[in-house]
Amino acid sequence: MLNIRVEKNVNPKPIPDKDNPLKFGTIFTNHMFIMNYETGKGWFDPRIVPYDKISLGPSAMVFHYAQEMFEGLKAYRAKDGRALLFRPDMNAKRTNLTNDRLCIPTIPEEDFVQAIKELVKVDEEWIPDREGTSLYIRPFIIATDEFLGVRPSNTYLFMIILSPVGPYYPEGLDPVKIWIEDDYVRAVKGGIGFAKTGGNYAASLAAQVKAHDEGYSQVLWLDGVERKYIEEVGAMNIFFKINGKVVTPMLNGSILPGITRDSVINLLRSWNIEVEEKQISVDELIDAAKFGALEEVFGTGTAAVISPVGHLRYGDNVIKVQDGGIGPISQKLYDSIVGIQLGEIEGPEGWVVEV
Ligand SMILES: *Cc1c(COP(=O)(O)O)cnc(C)c1O
Repeated sequence: MLNIRVEKNVNPKPIPDKDNPLKFGTIFTNHMFIMNYETGKGWFDPRIVPYDKISLGPSAMVFHYAQEMFEGLKAYRAKDGRALLFRPDMNAKRTNLTNDRLCIPTIPEEDFVQAIKELVKVDEEWIPDREGTSLYIRPFIIATDEFLGVRPSNTYLFMIILSPVGPYYPEGLDPVKIWIEDDYVRAVKGGIGFAKTGGNYAASLAAQVKAHDEGYSQVLWLDGVERKYIEEVGAMNIFFKINGKVVTPMLNGSILPGITRDSVINLLRSWNIEVEEKQISVDELIDAAKFGALEEVFGTGTAAVISPVGHLRYGDNVIKVQDGGIGPISQKLYDSIVGIQLGEIEGPEGWVVEV
């Protein structure tokens, strides 16, 4: 249990107009959470302070060796006014999975969730209530030793910032166009692909720019060794419905273990729809599309929840799915997960936590 000191912002910004679409990740609330770490001392001085710039030495290790991690989750406003979190214990667990891989000290799961709850409570009025809106929560840790040389840092900052966000697709569930990348790779087994860390995103930028230049919104990554097996999309995991069965790449060490992915697998199984986590080759996908067996494709992630995919391109092959529309499973999953997040549908035990 953390003893969190609160310093209120005496110069608060006005809360943005809730009826205006909020552009993702551009506006931040009036407060942030900070906690320090020092080897020998552990985590200390947890505090909620006015949102402001932080000061770091130019030699702070995070700038040079990328020892950092982040998480992403949301707070939702239920119709009855409660503020709800969706499976924050899973973000706490994943934080420590990432931290272990990057030699960052772990944080007790209950402290991680407590810090989020207390910060959200302080800026609770910032949770928008219009349909599809939420308060995005971004916890992150950075290495702060002022040192040039490669080793784990002895000091860290754990911070949480909050950003009100609008519907990911303002026009409703909108199918995306995806570029299957066969040159650049994102991660390999034994690397950091399963960890939620900025380095994976730095590695992804060149392919993303290339895909954008070709008119595609996101990249679908193939495995880093054979460039043959499907891994995931940008910041989403990927699912296919082929011949009545739902399949998704198994977690193999280079794929990010998404919480939305886990929730989708759970829900589908509770509806008695068969789901298999397995190795899926890009050839298998192209064949399925050719023979009319590829029924639905969708991505899963906290930002958009479910992103139907209407169009994929692999070299000269173009795959059209659902005639570019939204499949019934994608729609049902979206409606169910959003309903659970807003407290309108009863989900599995422990999925929804009141702030
Ligand atoms: C965060 C993330 C996801 C999605 O995870 P969720 O927990 O469902 O939001 C998928 N892939 C990558 C690379 C990510 O960083």
